[in-house]
Amino acid sequence: MPLQLVFATNNKHKIEEVAAKLGNSIVLLTLNDIGCYDDIDETGTTFAENASIKSHFIFEKYHLNCFGDDSGLEVDALYGEPGVFSARYAGQHGNHSANIDKLLMNLAGQENRRARFITIISLLWKGTEYLFEGTVYGTIRTERSGEGGFGYDPIFEPDGFDRTFAEMSLDEKNQLSHRARAVEKLVAFLQQQAIAEAL
Ligand code: IMP
Repeated sequence: MPLQLVFATNNKHKIEEVAAKLGNSIVLLTLNDIGCYDDIDETGTTFAENASIKSHFIFEKYHLNCFGDDSGLEVDALYGEPGVFSARYAGQHGNHSANIDKLLMNLAGQENRRARFITIISLLWKGTEYLFEGTVYGTIRTERSGEGGFGYDPIFEPDGFDRTFAEMSLDEKNQLSHRARAVEKLVAFLQQQAIAEAL
């Protein structure tokens, strides 16, 4: 029987991205799939803490192998802001447009526009925690460009490209994004586990 693993999210975009990379040796379950309708608070002060809160919540309540993730944008000239507050930088959770406005305002006149997106995944596998990290470096544009993606994508230009994430197809972004990089490390680990179990 294939291994089962809970992803502590109901975000369809994230689930599709991970499922596509996992292949069929591991069955991915969402929070809805296991009947979990709790709102898991992101009270941590780091990405790792928040990812860990999610995975521990599921493991302690359901005793299932599981993982949680947390991501955000860190801007050098703002000493790492918005960081863990990326989703609610301007106050209201998930108001991406207001978040971008605030970021552009805080960077007005600033020459140093270096930034990075980061994702941390916390996996609880047979009771042991493993962390996986993915980062993509780039710069913050002075104005929006592109219609795709979400969040800060219209103002983030990854290194080596002259387009923002919002000007890329989903496939293209998924080749180089912070989340994709963390997920690739997770998948490599899980595939090793699945192979070991099958031996
Ligand atoms: P989450 O932890 O993946 O839900 O990300 C938290 C917040 O970070 C999002 O609400 C966005 O503001 C920002 N963020 C994370 N990943 C991305 C991305 O790939 N593009 C743009 N913004 C992102």
